[in-house]
Parts: sequence; C-alpha cells; structure tokens
Amino acid sequence: MPANLASQTPRLPSIDSLLRHPACQPLAERYGREALLAALRQLLDELRESVQRGQVQAVEVSPEVLSGRVGERLAFQHRSHVRRVFNLTGTVLHTNLGRALLPEEAIEAVQMAARYPLNLEFDLHSGKRGDRDDLIEGLIRELTGAEAVTVVNNNAAAVLLTLNSLGARKEGIISRGELIEIGGAFRIPDIMARAGVKLHEVGTTNRTHAKDYEAAIGPRSGLVMRVHASNYNIQGFTTSVPTAELAQLAHDHGLPLLEDLGSGSLLDLTRWGLPAEPTVRQALLDGADIVTFSGDKLLGGPQAGLIVGRKELIAKIKKNPLKRALRVDKLTLAALEAVLGLYRNPDLLAERLPSLRLLTRPQEEILAQAERLQPSLARVLGAAWSVSAMPALGMIGSGSQPVARLPSAALCLRPLTSKRLRGRCLLGLEEALRGLPIPVLGRIDDDALWLDLRQLDDEAAWLAQLDQLQGEERAG
Ligand SMILES: *Cc1c(COP(=O)(O)O)cnc(C)c1O
Repeated sequence: MPANLASQTPRLPSIDSLLRHPACQPLAERYGREALLAALRQLLDELRESVQRGQVQAVEVSPEVLSGRVGERLAFQHRSHVRRVFNLTGTVLHTNLGRALLPEEAIEAVQMAARYPLNLEFDLHSGKRGDRDDLIEGLIRELTGAEAVTVVNNNAAAVLLTLNSLGARKEGIISRGELIEIGGAFRIPDIMARAGVKLHEVGTTNRTHAKDYEAAIGPRSGLVMRVHASNYNIQGFTTSVPTAELAQLAHDHGLPLLEDLGSGSLLDLTRWGLPAEPTVRQALLDGADIVTFSGDKLLGGPQAGLIVGRKELIAKIKKNPLKRALRVDKLTLAALEAVLGLYRNPDLLAERLPSLRLLTRPQEEILAQAERLQPSLARVLGAAWSVSAMPALGMIGSGSQPVARLPSAALCLRPLTSKRLRGRCLLGLEEALRGLPIPVLGRIDDDALWLDLRQLDDEAAWLAQLDQLQGEERAG
C-alpha cells in the first residue's frame, strides 16, 4: 500500500470513547450499557479488517455514524418476535395467524385482568375460596342450555380431559368415518390412547350404521364418541347415525355420548347467510351428554376449550387432576366472558364481534375497496405488474365448513414477464410483502398473487407502508 494512502487510513475509535460519546448516551439508556457494549464490540470487530485494508472512509468510522449503525442493530435485536400482520390470505379464522380477533369489550376485559388483582378464585359473596369456572358458568349455561360447564386451555385439551375422565381403562366407541386428524398433529386415535381410552372403531369410512355401534357395545365399553368432521367432507354413498339416535342407543346401554363439535357455533349462522354449522344447544337437545368446542373458532373469542353438558359428568371432569394442568388463565376467562356477553344480543352480534363482522362482509363492499386501492398498488409496483380488482373466493378457516367458500374480492397481482420468470417474480413479491414492517400475507394461485381484502380493516396503515415496496419490485 502506498505510504500516502496509508497515512489517510482512518482509525477505529476505541470502545471507551464511543461509550462516552453523547451520540451513544440515548442507546445506553434505552438498551442498557451491556447490550450497547456488546453491539459496539461486534460492529468494530466486523469493521477492523476493512479499516486495515484501507477500504473505509473516515466518515464511516465517525462516532455519529457508528452509533447510528449500532442503534439500528440494537433495534433489530430487540424487536418483538410476536408481530402484527395483515391477513389477506382469504382464510378468516387462520390457525397460523391467531384465529379470531377479539372485540373491544374483550380487549378491555383483558387489560383489566392484566392490570389489577381480581376475584379469579375468590367468592366475593361468601368471602371464601371460589372456582374460576363459576365466573362464566351462568353465561354459558344460558347460551347453550347446558346443566354445567368447565373451561380449559383449548378444545384439544377439552377432548383429552373428557376422554380421560369418562373413559379411562375402558373402550371408546367411534365411527371409522370420524377418526380425524386436525392440523398440528391432533389425531383422535392418538388422543384416545394418551387419554387411556381403548379405541373401538366401528363401521366404515363412508358408512356407519346404528347396528355397528350396537354390536360394539359390551362390558368394557366406557363411552360413545362422535367427532364433527371439521376439515374434510365425505360425499356420495354415505350414512351416519344422527346424534339423537346415537344418544338414545348409548343411553339404552348406560353409556354417555361425547360429541366433539370442533367449531361449535352458539347460534344458527344461516341467519347471517353463512353455511349451517351444528350448534352446541342442538347437540345437547339431541342428547349428547358432553359437548366440547373451541373458544377461538366460530365463537370468535380467545383460545379456550369449552366442555358443557350433564352436571354429574362435568363434576367428574372437574375432579380429574389433569383439569388443573389444563386450566385457563385469567386473561382468557376475562376475554371469554366479554365475548359471550355479546351473544346475549344476537341482533347486534354481527356488528360487535369482529370474526362475524368479517365473515359477513358483503362481496360488493370488498370489491369496491379493491377498486379503490388498485391505483395505489399499481403505481407502486410499476409497469412490470398487472394489478386488478377481482372477485375471489375465501374460506372460514379453522376447520369450519372446509368446502364452503366465501364470495370475496382481492387485488390480483400478475407479473408481466415471460412465463419462465413468472414463478420467481411471484415469490420475490410475496417475500417483499412479507418483509414489510407490518408483513402482508396473501396467497399465490393461478400464476398470480392474491390479496383478499375481506380482512383489511386498517387501510391507512396498509397504504402507509406500500412505498417501501418501490424499487425492490422494479429491480426484481
Ligand atoms: C379444531 C378442532 C379441535 C381442536 O381444537 P383447538 O381449540 O384447536 O385445540 C378438536 N376437534 C375438532 C373437531 C376440531 O375442529
């Protein structure tokens, strides 16, 4: 290296001088001295070699520039891993994106429960120890007609706990058409085994008759189980035994009927033009002794598993030590009570419960929104993309009505490149959208990226970050 260049080679400031520099003071306050020190060390180590090779200008190692870089680095390291996203996938109750959104009433209740002590297990009337289920039992009984209620962490826990409490060391009789697997490795045969219940499958995949159940019932039988086939549909030459008939049959032999409804709607959804789902109340009226369902699917509340049904069976379930291991926390209970409270006035439910409001948004309204937003996105993406407002088909999600489609509308983004490059362009844009401050998640289908707008509530926040896509896509 020529001597005159070497003499201009800037030197890295010392860690101590940087730590004392005013530009670093706000960082020390915000992240703590230790984190700042570690980040500074890391950055200087990375720079040392290029500085020695004379590849770095003096301004690049000024305390102001270095503290700026360290600040960015610390912000990145300390950013939250739980992040808000825009769910434009078209699936409303998306299990991987947190399912139902809570209404304001529930958010307030969660804040209250988070901030203050509360009567979680304390009876304010008697001054004695209480039971957390008591806080919501009255409301759930009113809404479902059940005699008694208990709540656990999710429906998978509800099924496990119920099976173990009522059928351990005995046989559980279930149709081969209902041996389902739900996403995330929840399989009825495995859960039964873990619950200590011996699986006794009857009938066939497509047809199970009353006589199949009848033939299976014997001295080792503990319960009859019915599972709502939530995430698939059997069509064609099929038969199953209606709940009322199955309940009668079980009761004739002194066995309880357990029904896992999955989504478990509290009200008939057809009044809002949605596909029919069996209601909890109807399952109980038909004679199911215990019904289990999720809190965060069609019910539209927090993650929870609700177990409702006959009083003596619920008492048995509550005595199981596993109940303690699977119980819900105070935030969930607070949210659940607030959500259930909204069901007392069904006329206002579609306005007040976000999941129902989103599920019932009319297609014309979503299409108008897509037409309104089309120019902004077209401008950002430039000439390499065609952007159009299109009708689309969405889904309820979370295993509710797997074959039903919700008429919706989307921004349809098509790369105007040769067919050969299209796939790569789509993946590039999909990744860029995912990389935005509030990641935007759509779905790739038919050589296009679809952004279903049914769930785009916060248009302003969505638009505000679009400019960050610019350049990135032109280049790609
Ligand atoms: C979704 C579902 C479950 C699991 O419920 P989680 O609340 O996700 O634990 C169990 N059974 C059926 C039929 C379901 O649809």
